[in-house]
Amino acid sequence: MRKIKYLFGLVLILMACATKEKRKNSEFVKKLDNTTKPNIVIILTDDQGYGDVGFNGCKDISTPNIDRIAANGVKFTNGYVSYAVCGPSRAGLITGRYQDRFGFCRNPLFAPKDSNMGLPLSEQTLAEALKGGGYQTMAIGKWHLGAHESLRPLNRGFDEFFGFLTGGHNYFPKDLVFNDLSELKGQWDPYRTKLLRNNNRVEEQEYLTDALSREAVAFVERNQENPFFLYLAYNAPHSPLQATEKYLQRFDHIKDKKRKTYAAMVSAVDDGVGALLNSLEALNIDKNTLVFFLSDNGGPELDNSSDNRELREGKGSLFEGGIRVPFAMQWPVKIPRGSVYNEPVISLDIFATATELVQVTPKSEIDGVNLIPFLTSKNSGVPHKQLFWRKYDDQSIAMRSGNMKLVQHKTPNKELYNLADDVSETVMLKDSILFNQLSTAFDNWDAKNSEPTFLGLIHGKQFDSINPGRWMDIEKY
Ligand code: CA
Repeated sequence: MRKIKYLFGLVLILMACATKEKRKNSEFVKKLDNTTKPNIVIILTDDQGYGDVGFNGCKDISTPNIDRIAANGVKFTNGYVSYAVCGPSRAGLITGRYQDRFGFCRNPLFAPKDSNMGLPLSEQTLAEALKGGGYQTMAIGKWHLGAHESLRPLNRGFDEFFGFLTGGHNYFPKDLVFNDLSELKGQWDPYRTKLLRNNNRVEEQEYLTDALSREAVAFVERNQENPFFLYLAYNAPHSPLQATEKYLQRFDHIKDKKRKTYAAMVSAVDDGVGALLNSLEALNIDKNTLVFFLSDNGGPELDNSSDNRELREGKGSLFEGGIRVPFAMQWPVKIPRGSVYNEPVISLDIFATATELVQVTPKSEIDGVNLIPFLTSKNSGVPHKQLFWRKYDDQSIAMRSGNMKLVQHKTPNKELYNLADDVSETVMLKDSILFNQLSTAFDNWDAKNSEPTFLGLIHGKQFDSINPGRWMDIEKY
């Protein structure tokens, strides 16, 4: 009997020890998870040309801080966005899906009463996905994914927002005069609304780009103990071209006034990128933070004096100048410093990379892929055998398959180019077999796409015909 009691006691002691150990282990795992979950930062610029960063060979505008990202990690020489203008490109980036899948085929109008004018609620944003992984999230700057109350950042997975809802904004605080959307009379008036902090209008004293950078640094400092996702969407260097003397005086060597102002705006972004990187380093969280840098579309060279270098055309076009952008990323714990990656990648890959690292499952089928295995040579294949673009209203299309590009943009027929030796898309190839193969592949991709779900900026005339003061109240365009 005594022996049985002894054995029973021993079992109880062992069980208690095991439970304690298990608890200790799970606490350890929990702690490990929280300290090893990478932070995700996306720095998006607006209408910056492929050639307008130092890491792509820019000579007249110095971008030492943006270049730090490429030097700390990788530059993508064939980095794309999923559309050639702002809104749809952002819809693709933030969902990891070709925006044509869900009808975001146009640049949205500013229509705060129209719940269809923006990113459909059926779609999951990267912020919503990362919330599932315990992340703190903030969107800063340009939103452009819907001005209706239901479509604003705080309803799309972001804990915090500082910025503006429309497709662009004035930069000087003195120009920000509207307190309430009811004061707006025209489609471009939202450029002059006071900024929003979450859902409240605030008085801003700083040049807009500096204000956005300040908010980014403050968010990182506030969340240094948490895994976080920061979506820093500068509207610079999108027009209107406005810069302060602090930045203009750096560019006395540029005689063209437009280019000089553009350069100053890029330089302001570069300072902000520097402040953000410095902050990550000072807090000792830079090593495990993924920082992506890219522009939302190619430069509109005539409009803002950007430079897409040898790429053909620019913003709005499906030739390379419209969709190939300056693109770099760093993640010091994994990606070798100073890497150069030449295979095609696309903004959709950011969603896929982030969700896979954080181990959250996307709600829908995504079109991007996790880039890390390709950047660490674990996977020697290519991330994408083919990439596709569609501009619904122009009936423009493009696809890239290896180095071959099929494109039709304001041309009578589809054209075939070999980007390996003709990055400027000047020499049309005549290869009917390949032409037919790629055309069929495009049609197969396009068969899964949706019709547009809202009118766009190109329908501005229709929009402007509505009596001033009335358009703000219309619930469906
Ligand atoms: Ca843009």
